[in-house]
Amino acid sequence: MSKTERNILIDSIAGKGITDQKVLKAMREVEREKFVPLLMRPNAYRDIALPIGYEQTISQPYTVAIMTQALKVKKGNKVLEIGTGSGYQAAILEKMGAGVYTIERHNDLYRKTQKLFDKLGIRVSTKCGDGTIGWSVHAPFDRIIVTAGSPDIPESLKNQLAIEGRLVIPVGDKRTQTLKVVTRISEQDFEIESIPEFAFVPLIGREAWDKE
Ligand code: SAH
Repeated sequence: MSKTERNILIDSIAGKGITDQKVLKAMREVEREKFVPLLMRPNAYRDIALPIGYEQTISQPYTVAIMTQALKVKKGNKVLEIGTGSGYQAAILEKMGAGVYTIERHNDLYRKTQKLFDKLGIRVSTKCGDGTIGWSVHAPFDRIIVTAGSPDIPESLKNQLAIEGRLVIPVGDKRTQTLKVVTRISEQDFEIESIPEFAFVPLIGREAWDKE
């Protein structure tokens, strides 16, 4: 049942313009219902964000698709995710063959999702803390994805990007954001493209918003 529902959802996402087959394949395989609270399971295959407790949400599937497509992940890439949340985005990246490092600032959510990763056998490196300053001991990263909205692009994250690496981050005010895709051309040079109109929960930390 859920597999059929999932395929219908992914077909509709493909219909909305997601063309990267690797992204669509991973999304057909990862069971989103496992990443949402029991009460929300009947809604797991609707293309909407859902509450996961702690005032946070699991992103809308279409948003996960567009961000992952923009990230252009290759097998074996070292990927840093800021905002683990439910763990769904990290699971998609792992399914695509990336080496995933993910940071969540909310301790209870961090522990809950850590348990879920263990239960589902998802191998990712996790950390509880402020992701706006990155994870320097593991830098540089081939890809960095920020799944919460930021007022700006944190310098630490740009600095932890490998040459030719890509960073995808929603930037804007607290209500709506533009998805920025940053490519590191050289040690000093970065190229920035924009994909308009998104709405994420706020990124809170030293190099982002300072409170909820
Ligand atoms: N990728 C998640 C989306 C979660 S919503 C998923 O697939 O479910 C964004 C998450 O970012 C929230 O859990 C929030 O607590 C977290 N967050 C906000 N600011 C952060 C920061 N500075 N460092 C790490 N996590 C942060």
